[in-house]
Parts: sequence; structure tokens; C-alpha cells
Amino acid sequence: MNTPTTPGISRRRFIRNSSLAASAFALGSRLWGADATATPPVKKLGVALLGLGSYATGQLRPALAETKLCELKGVVTGSPDKGAAWAKKFNFSAKNVYNYDTMDRLADNPDIDIVYVVTPNALHAGHVIKAAKAGKHVICEKPMATSVADCDAMIAACSVAKRSLSIGYRLHFDPYHQKMVNLAADPNFGPFTKLSGENGFTLGGDQWRIHHPLSGGGPLMDMGIYVVHAACMATIANPVAVTAKERPKLHPEIFRDVEEALDWTMEFPGGATAECQTSYVKNYGHFHAEGAKGWIDFPSAFNYGGMRMNTSTGPITFPPMRQQSAHMDAIAQSILDKKDSPTPGELGRRDMVIIEGIYASAANGGKRVELKYT
Ligand code: NAD
Repeated sequence: MNTPTTPGISRRRFIRNSSLAASAFALGSRLWGADATATPPVKKLGVALLGLGSYATGQLRPALAETKLCELKGVVTGSPDKGAAWAKKFNFSAKNVYNYDTMDRLADNPDIDIVYVVTPNALHAGHVIKAAKAGKHVICEKPMATSVADCDAMIAACSVAKRSLSIGYRLHFDPYHQKMVNLAADPNFGPFTKLSGENGFTLGGDQWRIHHPLSGGGPLMDMGIYVVHAACMATIANPVAVTAKERPKLHPEIFRDVEEALDWTMEFPGGATAECQTSYVKNYGHFHAEGAKGWIDFPSAFNYGGMRMNTSTGPITFPPMRQQSAHMDAIAQSILDKKDSPTPGELGRRDMVIIEGIYASAANGGKRVELKYT
């Protein structure tokens, strides 16, 4: 299986092309067709949001209102009333409201091109496979699934159905994260060899995130995955090994069957290392990468917006943008151009291999776990 390092770009191809003035991410934009003017679309691709919880409602729906190549045309929801209210409010046909049991009927609905899966982690696999079987392209939120085996089943289902599968890695379209990869590939600045990152928040209330059967794990699955992913982007590589240790629980009565906080180390080819943390009892979100020639530091590395980046050559700022709109448009463009997704299922699977390795190490007293991607 082809395991990408940066989206759609193998390490060899990335390095080969990094001398192009445009840099890997600008190259990526061309390869992935993120330029909305490249192929004039006949129509916008119709998107059905599956699972109308906080991320779908608070981020994806508003982002869809700003996309150039996508539009909200339907929903899959367990609540018919909510579905009807969305159809009315966001101006799509009431016939485009499905529930989780009727979504196979999407097969007969030409309004919907893409199903965007935004349900609890352990439900992603079933929902993605159903959407693919209904002949729809799929975008699936992170983490892709709760096991590598499920990732394989999802990739296979989309492949059999000849449909595109993308993961909701919105930060690939954030200019700060793109700049980080450019700097890593710049021989006058990179490579980065010493990395660190933390991501977490104080989780309140009872919700699916603390129930292993629905979440597949604690903050590593939810927040730590961003640090895993950023470390791979900043090294333009996949780690060869991990070691990990769960922190003692301050609230064992809440975090009964998932970790409360976890520390782990990723080892990359060539000797780069990343020291990482995640937590459900601490608010943080920081990423740092340095090498012999330069460093970058993100005080709030994983936000939807309002980021800033400090570097050894001075601070960097970009105009505000909406990551999710840029991401969905790039995916839509790749579908229209019949090209690989910018954030394919294989990238989600790669992260699940790393996460399984981290959990295996933590369960074995911090033993070093070598990672195998095939
Ligand atoms: P949420 O709890 O707010 O929403 C979950 C939705 O799934 C709800 O509409 C709920 O009704 C539905 N659902 C269907 N079956 C369910 C079941 N058996 N149990 C519980 N809910 C069920 O969660 P969320 O924060 O919107 O997260 C959803 C997914 O999106 C997760 O995989 C999460 O990791 C991901 N997410 C991604 C980002 C990002 O920045 N990319 C941000 C937040 C969440």
C-alpha cells in the first residue's frame, strides 16, 4: 500500500520536486487541483452532512456556505425534525433528508455527490462503507476510524465503488501549516530534527468521547492525532517507531475506559524525534520544530483560525481564511479532475498505524514499538 507522507506526495517525489520554486505545497495545489479556476465545473458538487453535531453545525455548514465547488444539498441524521429544519433553513429539498437506516437510498439521488461523515469515531467505518456502497464520494472526519483494520475496509469499499475517500485533515489547507512544510523542505531553513507538540482541552460532561466503544480511545484519538499529523508534516516523513506512557488519572471516575492524558515520542528516519503530549484535563495546543538552521513555533497550532507563527527569521502572519472551505473545495476539485484526494484514506490509515503503535507501547510499559505500514 502506498503510504503518503504529505498528502498525495511520496517522500521521494516530494524531495525531487522541492527544488521547484513553488515548493511542495504549491506543487501540491497544482497536483490536487486546489485552484478553482483550473477546470470550470459544470455544477457544484452536492454534499450531504452525515451527523449534525457540533462540528458539522458549527464549522462545516458555515464553511459549505463559502465553498466555490460544493454546496449543502442534504443531510443524514437520526432526528427527522432536525433534518426537516435544516432543509428549510438551508434551502435544500426535504427529500434529501435521510436517516442512518435509509441512507442506502442515496444511490437514487443525483443531488448528492459527496457524503461527509461527522459522527463519533467508531461509527465512521460503517457510515463510510454505506455511503460508498450508495455510489457516493466520501469525506470522513478524523480520526479515520478506531483501527487499522477498519481503515482497510473503508479504503477497500471506496475502491470497489470507484469513489474518492478523503479525511478531514483541515490543517493541510491552513497557510501556516503549509508554510511549515515549505520551511522544512527549504535547504536554507530545514530539515527539522527536534520537534515537540501538545494538544488537549478540559473535557466536561458525559459524552461519547469518554466511552471507548464509540471513541476508540481518549484524547489521543481526538486531539493528540493533530500532533501526530503535524510531526509527520514537519519532518515530511512517517515515524519508524514510538514509545508512550499514559499519565496517572486525576479523574478515574470520569475516564473509566479511555486514557486521561498521554505522553509519547515518535522516532523518524534519519534520527529526528518528536516529544508529544495530549490531555483531556489541560487546555493547550502548541507545536515547535527546530533544526540546525532554523526553528518554528506555533503558540496555538491546531485552531480553526487566529493562528500565528514565530520563526528564527521573524514572525509570520497570513490573512484569515476558512480551512474547511479550502479543504472541501480542494477535494471537490480532485473529484472533478478525477485525481487523487489531497487528504486520502491512506493518510488516515497511516495515522491509525501510529496511534495503534502508541497505544500498544503505553499498554506495554512504554516499550518501543516499531511501526509497519503495510
Ligand atoms: P458531536 O457529539 O457534537 O456530534 C456527533 C453527531 O453524531 C451527533 O449529531 C449525534 O447525534 C450523531 N450520532 C450518531 N450516532 C450516534 C451515537 N451512537 N452516539 C452519539 N452520537 C451519534 O461530535 P463532534 O464534535 O461533532 O465530532 C464528530 C466527529 O468529528 C468526530 O469524529 C470528531 O473527531 C470530528 N471532529 C473533527 C474536528 C476537526 O477539526 N476536524 C473538530 C471536531 C470534531
